[in-house]
Amino acid sequence: MKKTSKSQKPIIGIDLGTTNSSAAYIKDGQAEIIPSPGGERIIPSVVHVDRAGKVVVGQDAADALIAMPGRTIAAVKRKMGSEEHLEVAGKKLLPEEVSALILKELKEYADNLLGPGEKEAVISVPAHFADAQRKATKKAGELAGFTVERVINEPTAAAMAFGLSNLDQDQHILVYDLGGGTFDVSLVEMMEGVLEVKASAGDNNLGGEDFDWKLVELFVGNMEDKYGVNPMEDLRAKTLLKGEAERVKKELSVKETCSVNLPAVIVKDDQPLDLELEVSRNEFVELIKDSLEKTLGCVEQVLEDASLDPEEIDEVLLVGGSTRIPWVREALAENFSFGNKPRQDINPEEAVALGVAVQAGLKSGELAESGFIVTDVAPYSLGIAVLKGFQGIMMVPGGFHTIIPKNTTIPVTRSDRFSTAADGQTVVEIEVYQGEKEGTRDNYPLGEFLLSGIPPRPAGQEEVEVTFHYNINGILEVQARCVSNNKAMGVSLKDALDRKSEGSYKESLERLETIFDAAEEPSEEDMDDFLAGFQEMEEESQEGIKARLKKEALLAIADGKELLSRLPQKARKELAELLESLEGALEGPDEDLQEALNEVLDLLIEIDEGDENE
Ligand code: AMP
Repeated sequence: MKKTSKSQKPIIGIDLGTTNSSAAYIKDGQAEIIPSPGGERIIPSVVHVDRAGKVVVGQDAADALIAMPGRTIAAVKRKMGSEEHLEVAGKKLLPEEVSALILKELKEYADNLLGPGEKEAVISVPAHFADAQRKATKKAGELAGFTVERVINEPTAAAMAFGLSNLDQDQHILVYDLGGGTFDVSLVEMMEGVLEVKASAGDNNLGGEDFDWKLVELFVGNMEDKYGVNPMEDLRAKTLLKGEAERVKKELSVKETCSVNLPAVIVKDDQPLDLELEVSRNEFVELIKDSLEKTLGCVEQVLEDASLDPEEIDEVLLVGGSTRIPWVREALAENFSFGNKPRQDINPEEAVALGVAVQAGLKSGELAESGFIVTDVAPYSLGIAVLKGFQGIMMVPGGFHTIIPKNTTIPVTRSDRFSTAADGQTVVEIEVYQGEKEGTRDNYPLGEFLLSGIPPRPAGQEEVEVTFHYNINGILEVQARCVSNNKAMGVSLKDALDRKSEGSYKESLERLETIFDAAEEPSEEDMDDFLAGFQEMEEESQEGIKARLKKEALLAIADGKELLSRLPQKARKELAELLESLEGALEGPDEDLQEALNEVLDLLIEIDEGDENE
């Protein structure tokens, strides 16, 4: 029998993003995106449960966000690892359960393309995701029906996509990854086919979502000044403003100014209240400048940690949709003399998924012959709580002792010894933290457990050895051992957490199954509820639709009248007649108004195109 390095099953690479998600795989030695049956290469990370209980994921779910915010969830990645239950369509789901629904959708695309059956997946996470967030991501993948043995840091993945096609070059690469919810920057060295992450820095709560909310604040201030109402108290209005904010933000990436013209944001005393203002690119950048400058601070940090000067960076990869904001490219070029280095030929939204597929290909054996090797680092320092010292005979707690320093290459196992602090002490509490601060108060707690059974001896005469193993997934295992009797007592942190999560895994699966069941066979009751709800929704939205239609008609009339005097006689006559019928339709049924409006708009577009061609 001959040994083959290729496994039968391809492994899917998944970028589970705050805003968008996508999947990729290796085909003929190259990473390729797995499209949806409709041809979409990335899908919004939005989940909607319709009134028949059917789960809808992606663009259709994103489209439902404004009309049915109570049945729709977006940006769930920001909550990953927390125990907060999110309510959707009357059901309470954990963040990883919602993420599982997104991953299940991507699994269907993979099943369509590659055939049904069990699949393994590698899923990317922000480099600065903590232990609990990584575990929640793994759990989401498993709930979706994947086997997930690996999670991989997003900027490392992006560098891998690039590295695979540049294996023969030795270079330093800076990956600046600013997505919807998180920011990461990694400094990577490619040397003789080995990709080594040298340093990484970032912020788990900095991304395009925050920029949208800054614009929403601006909109709200405008409406409060003008009408004395706060539209944020209305869920529909809040969602509407958030959607508009994202549109404005994107437009400001290509234009210097953007007009906001949102009719009937909210109704007060039977009056629809509109939002109208102009936002300039400079004004927008001012709103988000603190966050953007923070990202530059992180770039400085990784350069310092890797002991490199900006001139030693050969390539700058911009990853994540928010890097389309022109300020990012400009600031990197100016502040670090990167000049034209930020590459133009990388699709910022696809780079991570393609890179995760490369990792998946290395794992499955499909890329074994490439000779590509990748090493990553621990993004945080990891350690335990120790005494700061004594004040008289009083112990002063709150000190932090690092066992694995930040940017240590992983996987890594490190041990340290600690001695008992009190006479006759038989128990020690091991409190595990991550972070860079001197005191535990300012670092992030990961978990704690007790080691008991230490022989009672005078203070300082018994030793406890604490061992940290940080694996390639960035997940930490901790064990404590009493040195004198050589027994590792108590439980390891990993066991403690896994035991807790095993029960919760079953519960999650059950909760999701009830959603899927509902999706497959809506009961008669559900259908009645659906129809009643639909009617209710229709009625509710009629008022808003009418107000918006009327507003659009009035705008079209104003535009049209302004244009009349500049038109040749024939066109002037035609437009004047249509404007007159539109004015006549203003108080009539919606359908007539819509029809008259369409006619005017068609003619205005025709005239506009005629002007452009001249
Ligand atoms: P990603 O996580 O890579 O899918 O990035 C999503 C984030 O990028 C979202 O916050 C988007 O609003 C943002 N984004 C996408 N396109 C643009 C653009 N042209 N200008 C500014 N932000 C954008």
